[in-house]
Amino acid sequence: AYYLKNIEEKNAALNAFVAVYGEEALQRAEEIDRRIAAGTAGRLAGMVVGIKDVLCYKDHCLQAGSKILDGFVSQFTATAVQRILDEDAIIIGRQNCDEFAMGSSNENSAFGVVRNAADTTRVPGGSSGGSAVAVQADMCLASLGSDTGGSVRQPAAFCGLIGLKPTYGRISRWGLVAYGSSFDCIGPITKSVEDAALLLEIMAGPDEFDSTVSTQPVRAYSQLLDTVKPSLRIGYLREGLESEGLQPEIRQAMQAKLEALRELGHTVEPVDFDLLAYILPTYYILTTAESSSNLSRFDGVRYGHRSVKAEDLTALYKRSRSEGFGKEVKRRIMLGTFVLSASYYDAYYTKAQKVRRLMKEQTDRVFEKYDFLLMPTTPTTAFPIGDKTEDPLQMYLADIFTVQANVVGNPAISIPNGVDAQGLPMGLQIMGKPFEEAQLLAFSKQLT
Ligand code: GLN
Repeated sequence: AYYLKNIEEKNAALNAFVAVYGEEALQRAEEIDRRIAAGTAGRLAGMVVGIKDVLCYKDHCLQAGSKILDGFVSQFTATAVQRILDEDAIIIGRQNCDEFAMGSSNENSAFGVVRNAADTTRVPGGSSGGSAVAVQADMCLASLGSDTGGSVRQPAAFCGLIGLKPTYGRISRWGLVAYGSSFDCIGPITKSVEDAALLLEIMAGPDEFDSTVSTQPVRAYSQLLDTVKPSLRIGYLREGLESEGLQPEIRQAMQAKLEALRELGHTVEPVDFDLLAYILPTYYILTTAESSSNLSRFDGVRYGHRSVKAEDLTALYKRSRSEGFGKEVKRRIMLGTFVLSASYYDAYYTKAQKVRRLMKEQTDRVFEKYDFLLMPTTPTTAFPIGDKTEDPLQMYLADIFTVQANVVGNPAISIPNGVDAQGLPMGLQIMGKPFEEAQLLAFSKQLT
């Protein structure tokens, strides 16, 4: 009831939720109360969670922030969502996001922009902007977002929260609307490391519906939060401290954190990742290629919006897609089909695959030497709404530090690291070794 009241008071201005399941949530809360009294409640009993509008929840609408899925109702529940429901979480509603999770500011949604609760003239980050603001403004306790190139960590940073992207393949993608299938990860946005650890522990692990999920054992992350090794080897990305585009306060906050870590007795050293300049091109070539293929299923026939003006089948496909998809999604489909086209495939797609491999090798080498790699989550704090909408390249630059973890598959987390002079939250990003979320979370807890 507390969260529903906050939604009622704040959602009109912030636009974080696109659908609220009020009555259903209250009814479920009553059932769970009975189970608590009987001592049979699950581990998330009473945790009020919102889900990004890219996660299927049976018998509930799903639109991925797009007009093209207008009227679509999920036929099944995403594995990650089902697992938290099985532990008695309460799903309070569906959260606004960039269309098909493409964006860094939540300005690409068919449901309109989401506003940052720290300053409503600024963006909340994206694409899981609604999911971050919902937690920031106490409209739910935790959210589930998706992260293809930063969409959990970047909005968490802009809103002063914890955002975790697990290792690729840690959590099943079954029931997650696909953007770039070899990059996509579901991840929690929370106020505490403990909640992130508990949610991960419950959602992770093999699933017969997603063959890319790892069989690496799932650890009891929430029980292992006090197990930080005494003298860690910590690398920090040199460019992440020295690059010109970095907001000075973010640099200072980073430096202060590194100093504090040295005082704790850890080894702290700069790391050069000389492929950094190639990271955004690689990411945008590969994800647009994958997404142009993933989005081909939206043809106006099988799901959602169907154009009424078509004279024949080809026109039906064309019109439905022209009317249904927004500008950014169309831009990416065009880019993706271009890099996959016969004459350019080798020059772009194959090349980017090779660079991805090099990045993976270079990252693995960093982790042979270091336990963690630190960098800012974002080069600036939350920017004003409308600031970058005319210049997609500027917008893509907001992802400079977050995409590496998706390109190589490692886990990464954004934790709050103070506020700038205008009171806007800053984020610190920590990348860890594949499937070593236990250490990553424990270290994060030590730093928060
Ligand atoms: N901002 C990035 C993009 O637009 C990341 C999005 C995401 O992680 N879903 O692709």
